[in-house]
Amino acid sequence: MTEPVLAIRDLNVSYGSAQAVQDVSLTVGRGEVLALIGANGAGKSTLFKAVCGMVRARGGTISLNGSRIDTLPASRIVTRGVAMVPEGRRLFRSLSVEENLIIGAQAGRPGPWSLERVYQVFPVLEQRRRQPATSLSGGQQQMVAIGRALMSNPELLLMDELSLGLAPVIIKDIYALLPSILGDGLAAVIVEQDIGRAMKASHRFVCMLEGKVSLTGHSGEFSREQISAAYFGN
Ligand code: ATP
Repeated sequence: MTEPVLAIRDLNVSYGSAQAVQDVSLTVGRGEVLALIGANGAGKSTLFKAVCGMVRARGGTISLNGSRIDTLPASRIVTRGVAMVPEGRRLFRSLSVEENLIIGAQAGRPGPWSLERVYQVFPVLEQRRRQPATSLSGGQQQMVAIGRALMSNPELLLMDELSLGLAPVIIKDIYALLPSILGDGLAAVIVEQDIGRAMKASHRFVCMLEGKVSLTGHSGEFSREQISAAYFGN
């Protein structure tokens, strides 16, 4: 079997005495999309932050292509090839669309993604490239956040709640673009509140409940009732 791009083993993360992630293990392979689902507070964002080095694991390991990254500072994790599209987008307010995108390239990683390629996928961003990023619509801002992450030519793309605050038609458009974004064999993890959409967009899923994995499998393998029980714990 080929090495997974991301391998998390027995991950534990706490905030003080409160354990947010408990004994979580998962893998994501090249070209694979994993959906991470679970109710508010289940620990999904904390898991993402641990992979990016923004919070430290109390136990367990996180490996990228077989090398441990959980001991590295966040900046080194980016240069190793991990990019996140954060919840709420977190664009640089004083910078233009293009400047926001260029910041993503600071990791200096070679690869297929460039300004030209981002503009090919999201033509509206080229039209707006000199505007302040925050003057764009919510959907366009989300495109900037995705483009900025891609500009680092990642091996692993973590996307936290792409749909947050967007109109259904825009969400549909963004998800429709995902296959062309992920087509180069990127490994991706998506956090998505809409379970139906998460399942449709992914190959496998992991459901978290109160910090632990409550169910995992192939997307589409379980009934709505089974997933709902794993999601809400009833
Ligand atoms: P959401 O969908 O609301 O973002 P989530 O599944 O991403 O939820 P986390 O944000 O990872 O969940 O939260 C997991 C647990 O850790 C929750 O109990 C939350 O209250 C707690 N937590 C998260 N961030 C912090 C923090 N900075 N300090 C203390 N506790 C935190």
